[in-house]
Amino acid sequence: MSTQTQIESFDVKSSGKEKSFAEVVFNLPLKEAFTYNIPPNLLGKVLVGMRVLVPFGRRHITGYVVNLIDKWNKDITLKNIVELPDTEPIVGKEILTLTKWMADYYQSSWGEAIKCSLPAGLDEKGQNISHQLVKYVRLAPVIPDENEIVRLLKRSPKQKLVFDLIKKKEISLPELQTQISKSQAALRCLKDKNLVEVFTEKKERETLVPEGTMTKPFGASLTFTPEQKAVFKKLNTAIEAEQFESFLLHGVTGSGKTEVYIRCIQRVLEMGKTAIMMVPEISLTPQTVERFRQRFGDRVAILHSGLSQTERYLEWKKIRDEKVSIAVGARSAVFAPFKNLGILVIDEEHDGSYKQESNPRYHARDTAVMRARSLNAVVVMGSATPSLESTQNTRLGKYQYLSLNSRVGERMLPLVSLVDMKREHKEFKNFAMLSGALRSAIRDRLSRKEQIFLFLNRRGTARFVFCSDCGYVLECKNCSVTLTFHSLEDRLLCHYCNFRTSMPDHCLECHGEVIRFSGFGTQKLEEEIRKLFPDSRVTRLDRDTTRGRDSFANMHRNMSAGNIDILIGTQMITKGHDFPNVTLVGVVHADLSLNIPDFRSCERSFQLLTQVAGRAGRGQVPGKVIIQTNNPDHYMFEFVREHDVNAFHEKELKLRQLLNYPPFTRLIAIEIVSENEVQGQNTIEKLGRALTRRSSAGVEILGPSKAAVYQIQSKFRWHLILRGKSMQALQNTLLNCQELNELKSASRGKIKLSVDVDPFNLL
Ligand code: ADP
Ligand code: ZN
Repeated sequence: MSTQTQIESFDVKSSGKEKSFAEVVFNLPLKEAFTYNIPPNLLGKVLVGMRVLVPFGRRHITGYVVNLIDKWNKDITLKNIVELPDTEPIVGKEILTLTKWMADYYQSSWGEAIKCSLPAGLDEKGQNISHQLVKYVRLAPVIPDENEIVRLLKRSPKQKLVFDLIKKKEISLPELQTQISKSQAALRCLKDKNLVEVFTEKKERETLVPEGTMTKPFGASLTFTPEQKAVFKKLNTAIEAEQFESFLLHGVTGSGKTEVYIRCIQRVLEMGKTAIMMVPEISLTPQTVERFRQRFGDRVAILHSGLSQTERYLEWKKIRDEKVSIAVGARSAVFAPFKNLGILVIDEEHDGSYKQESNPRYHARDTAVMRARSLNAVVVMGSATPSLESTQNTRLGKYQYLSLNSRVGERMLPLVSLVDMKREHKEFKNFAMLSGALRSAIRDRLSRKEQIFLFLNRRGTARFVFCSDCGYVLECKNCSVTLTFHSLEDRLLCHYCNFRTSMPDHCLECHGEVIRFSGFGTQKLEEEIRKLFPDSRVTRLDRDTTRGRDSFANMHRNMSAGNIDILIGTQMITKGHDFPNVTLVGVVHADLSLNIPDFRSCERSFQLLTQVAGRAGRGQVPGKVIIQTNNPDHYMFEFVREHDVNAFHEKELKLRQLLNYPPFTRLIAIEIVSENEVQGQNTIEKLGRALTRRSSAGVEILGPSKAAVYQIQSKFRWHLILRGKSMQALQNTLLNCQELNELKSASRGKIKLSVDVDPFNLL
């Protein structure tokens, strides 16, 4: 087995002589590639980028071929490749290079990075991708005449829609789902009426691309505003130059950024190239999807978490086989296996969901920039509240700065006012969740039949359950966090590990009788609202009320149809929605995100509040935003009130520089999670000493320290942070640290080590 791997030599049959050895990497925390012998029956068939089934220890596992070599002069006898599940490479050369970079940069193994770039539907067992069972539907062999069909379908437009589609051509069930959402029930009825039949195909087949759609002209586009026009001109120049260039498009909510992306993508398609459009998972709402479908029809593959593994795989395959030209999706869309990429768009580039919080802990925005660079493509990162990292990059000249300063159609930015909740308590003796000001504003909008958003970033009814005698607070037995009361289920819930327990009838500490609630959550807010405004139609949107896409879609429909007066929600309601009749946004407790012990908490609060505020007044009526807080003097609020992102950046960047935090330094966070508290502590201390010994000049070691949430699911967590101006110096320190590498390959179960490069969350 060898440890040397180069990815330059992709030429498979260059010498005319078949290469006899393959270098293979695995989805395991092992840095090396392993060399295997290619048996005579597979000679010439094994290609770089294919999966192989090979003996490993006492098992057979799937690996990825990353290189072929013709010489082997070491003394070790090589094992044979056992099976070759693929007839063609599943990882192209370009993605191989990208994943190699990811592995090096984000400190994972190459195999882990490759695995992460592939759709989940491609399983690990080495099952042949072209032999999945897929269900198809076609017309029944005998169907009634035209008139009878019309009669049968008269009262169900949905069934008629599905039937008409199937009539054109047989179609796979996943494809049917993509084309007509929630078509299962209609399909079942059609089956019951003996109009269609479902059958199973063993072989993978062409996915349906209705004739003509690939060449159909794009949907009507709007006439650009002068600002949009100026921005598009710059982007278009870069697109036509076919040179790598990265742009930060800073535009207030509703300034027409999406319209600009669409036009850029259209331009790229006209040039015969392809495009990736990334949005945070939470913004993959029917609204966004619909907008791309309308413009680009069947040229779009949509990758979202609601798809089954087979569906994900089929969408991925459509991209790989060039059946589509655009991939719209969350983080993982950055790996869409397009061959001729012209543009990568990252909407809401500041969003935390672009950072994967499990190994490999890549950042999709930064990965997209790397990918674009190697392909000479254009990257557009858009946001109403850009991250400080990207802002700093524009100042350093790494990204070009573009801006859209006004909302389309002269719609005004909302008026933002603050309510001091401490004063509300002291002077007005009001201990309810809503201040007098917010209450009367709600009453006012209700009387005018306008809609209201109430934002509160915490679920449940009450944060604490505590004993009023001794002050004992109920905590999760597995995690160092307080339990939250959920009144509907009448249970206490841990928001970290989902531990559930019933309300105790006396204090567990002093046996005192009185148990009290303190705090608040979306559910409690809903109860309060229903009491105050019994005639209003209230809907709540949070993780307890949403299960998948449907609840989103329902909420959308009801909001648009005016069936909801007050929408209460967590972060979920902040993005991807555009309802013109929402004229009031209330932020019930703005301090939650501000109190999180993380150097980014102020930046995040600013982004969150600005985004929430952006939901107000998108129609003809100017919006109003009321923010309730216990810290009205915090400097951040002033910038939210003025909608002054640039001034906020100015201030916040100065602070970051003063405190030596990113973007002025780089960080690598190391975490140890241990079942045994003492063992964990010993390990992290030993590692801290080792890193200090190995660290090169300009590398600071912070910690070790207990994590902010020290205990999760009965496991204890410690952190070490490397900080320095040069990422290379940080990376070198890790590479030189033998102790770290040993811990990493042994990392599992009892003591787990993880490395997070450019960490986004420091909790
Ligand atoms: P953003 O992505 O910046 O929030 P959008 O692109 O979603 O902004 O635009 C906000 C609204 O304005 C959308 O309803 C969009 O259809 C509309 N819009 C965008 N550009 C134009 C334009 N040039 N003319 C008319 N309406 C536009
Ligand atoms: Zn817990």
